[in-house]
Amino acid sequence: MVEWDAIDTVLLDMDGTLLDLRYDNQFWLDHLPGVFGARENLSIEQARAAILDMTSARQGTLEFYCLDHWSKVLQLNVAELNAELGHLVQMRPNAERFLRSLRTHGIRTVLVTNSHRDGIDFKMDKTGMEVHLDRVICAHDLGFAKEQQGFWRRLHEIEPFDPDRTLLVDDNISVLDAAAEWGVRYLLAVTRPDSGRAPVETGSYAGLDDFAHLLPG
Ligand SMILES: [Mg+2]
Repeated sequence: MVEWDAIDTVLLDMDGTLLDLRYDNQFWLDHLPGVFGARENLSIEQARAAILDMTSARQGTLEFYCLDHWSKVLQLNVAELNAELGHLVQMRPNAERFLRSLRTHGIRTVLVTNSHRDGIDFKMDKTGMEVHLDRVICAHDLGFAKEQQGFWRRLHEIEPFDPDRTLLVDDNISVLDAAAEWGVRYLLAVTRPDSGRAPVETGSYAGLDDFAHLLPG
């Protein structure tokens, strides 16, 4: 799928890329609306619509990904509720094998995520994947979401990768667009971020379903 001789850094998204998005979708579309609806006397459909209204207005910003923000808005401890679905936190097919293989081949591996620090810690704890990563970058620490050009500028200041020799894998098309605009040369989109749902459109980007198809060597 890619020419590994031409790549020395791989940037990887977390939710929907290394990890199954099933957990996040279940949480935001079922679990949280259930808890919120019970308190507000709303049906699950009404609660889901109310939460979707609030979250879609913040899409592409850091607040969208900030658990503290939603805890404040919804008056619920979102990080604590997150933990109740912990059993659904799973790596996507062959993701761990892929990370091991990158290390064997001496390719620098950096996780770049919009996820909140509490969410990252929780998922690292559940999967143990941190040992396979050279670095973990949280967008909140950089002050920009990955959809914003500021993120890529700041990332390059603290993690000096060569954009011409870098691959980004992400399930968010807006993020791939932003990285392309900034100059990241190799881009792949995840075709099935949520194992419980049908594949998604990847626009002009080449799609990746199983990491077994991307193993170097
Ligand atoms: Mg993602």
